[in-house]
Amino acid sequence: MTVDAVVAGAGVWGCTVARRLAESGRRVLVLERRHAVGGNVRCETDAETGIEVHTYGSHIFHTHIPEVWEFVNRFVKFNGYQHKVLARYRGKTYFLPLGLALIEKFFGVELKPCEADAFLRDEARSKAVFDAFFRGYTSKQWGRPPEEIDPSIIKRVPVRTSYDVNYFNDYNQGIPLSGYNSLFERLLDHPGIEVRCNAAVRLEGGAFWVGGDALPCVPVYYSGPVDELFGYRFGHLPWRTLRFETERLDVRDYQGTSVVNYTEAEVPYTRIHEFKHYHPEDAAVMNAPKTVIMREYPAAWKPGDEPYYPIDTTESRALLARYMEEAAKLPGLVVGGRLGGYKYYDIDKSVEAALSLRLLGQ
Ligand code: UDP
Repeated sequence: MTVDAVVAGAGVWGCTVARRLAESGRRVLVLERRHAVGGNVRCETDAETGIEVHTYGSHIFHTHIPEVWEFVNRFVKFNGYQHKVLARYRGKTYFLPLGLALIEKFFGVELKPCEADAFLRDEARSKAVFDAFFRGYTSKQWGRPPEEIDPSIIKRVPVRTSYDVNYFNDYNQGIPLSGYNSLFERLLDHPGIEVRCNAAVRLEGGAFWVGGDALPCVPVYYSGPVDELFGYRFGHLPWRTLRFETERLDVRDYQGTSVVNYTEAEVPYTRIHEFKHYHPEDAAVMNAPKTVIMREYPAAWKPGDEPYYPIDTTESRALLARYMEEAAKLPGLVVGGRLGGYKYYDIDKSVEAALSLRLLGQ
């Protein structure tokens, strides 16, 4: 087919951009370097149990943005799963986020909502809570003490004076009933879209290439790592990476919930995911005599490792700005997404960015 636009990278941002382009009448070629689309939201179904395993760690869709919720609901229906996270600390289990349930259990007290603020204003108490639930976890997650990371990262975890133990504040939450992969397959299921996997895009001599083929001279919406696109000419943007250990166990239910955080520094992993709990509507999966769990180990990133979390520092922002300046010099190139934009995105924010993008030629 003749092509009006190329989308390089078929994750959340790329698939949403491709859909918008196709719905505006353009013919779109989507190129994905991995063997399958979906980016880090990609899942694999465990053949023995039918459990949907989140290959790159748990992804829960949650949003308060009406346009994003409406958009994704055109393609999949959600199961209404509401995310709750437990924390293990010194042999006890607590409900996150920081709210009455956690405070009462941790300090062995009973509080009214109106008393919680004053109770935690006490410096020794707030330090005890921070050290138990945030210091160790954050040091493992980021490889540096909490004082050295941007405070906005820890503020992702809500603080409440109620018994609400929902991990997110967003009313709209869930997991696609038909599985995450179906969201990407349906986004790309349009007569104006052609998808090619195992196709990495590179920039050479001012032109874009896939293998030995030059891409047509059309807009390229690129969501791979932006430093890689420019041959790392100013240096590597720093990331944290993750290592996962997945196990199928002969028990119906291992931990009673989808995610348990291990907040002590001495435990080498940050959390254990148990994927069957993401589909409480699926009785066959829930009652299967086996379960699949995954331990998550954060690690220092080096070139060649999978990039998961961008490390936001003054230096990394300056480096990103230099790469974005280079990108702006190439007419027809639009860089975005988690990898392209070097962003710590939740799924909905990536969809929102793609929906609000000004398409070239409009
Ligand atoms: N965090 C923590 N203890 C926890 C959960 C989170 O210290 O039990 C901190 C940690 O620094 C983490 C950040 O809060 O990187 C954001 O947590 P979130 O659960 O949003 O991380 P994500 O699921 O995106 O990895």
